[in-house]
Amino acid sequence: MFAINHAATALIIKKGFKDVPILWILISVQFMELLWVFLNYIGIERTTTEKEVKYVGNIHLSYMPFSHSILTMVGMSILAWFVISKGLDKLEIGLAVGIGILSHLVLDLITHSRDMAISPFVEGPKFGLGLYANFPVPAFLLEIGYGTACWWIYGGSKALLAVIILFNLANLPMFIAAIPGAKQKMTNRPLLITSFIFVQIVVTLTLVGLLS
Ligand SMILES: [Zn+2]
Repeated sequence: MFAINHAATALIIKKGFKDVPILWILISVQFMELLWVFLNYIGIERTTTEKEVKYVGNIHLSYMPFSHSILTMVGMSILAWFVISKGLDKLEIGLAVGIGILSHLVLDLITHSRDMAISPFVEGPKFGLGLYANFPVPAFLLEIGYGTACWWIYGGSKALLAVIILFNLANLPMFIAAIPGAKQKMTNRPLLITSFIFVQIVVTLTLVGLLS
């Protein structure tokens, strides 16, 4: 799932955990994505592209078994819950953070191509419903609808809704091949893709946090 809608997920978690500072939740929903950015920068995880990037399905998250495998994400969720709830004795925060990390796994499984491994060092099978590659327009509608639903459930301001809608619309060229955009520049430039996603993570988390 794209950054703005992972960030929007923090809103529904915050709704259930009113006493937990939203900063904890914002970091949790994107924790594994930030790890993915770091591991791509240092060359441990890899991203590749087709000869031309026409839409999101032409970008392949070809190797990311540490940041985006089922075992590491579930494991990190449990570990975070355990350390924060039991170690630091902050029960509510631990639970909210655990759910935040797990939400990223669920949302990515729905949208991604079959690129999520069971665990590091296990070749196959891989998981992902494949919406991005096979049904990009429904995927876009699902993303913008989901982001809006998060806002609605939270009961956010008009400015917050505008941010969610605008960032989703800005992603439209990634879903529809016919719409031109900066995507052509991403061909064979995995670190540009990483940087683009990193900036989106930081900006969307900041805006959702400030306007929540
Ligand atoms: Zn992800």
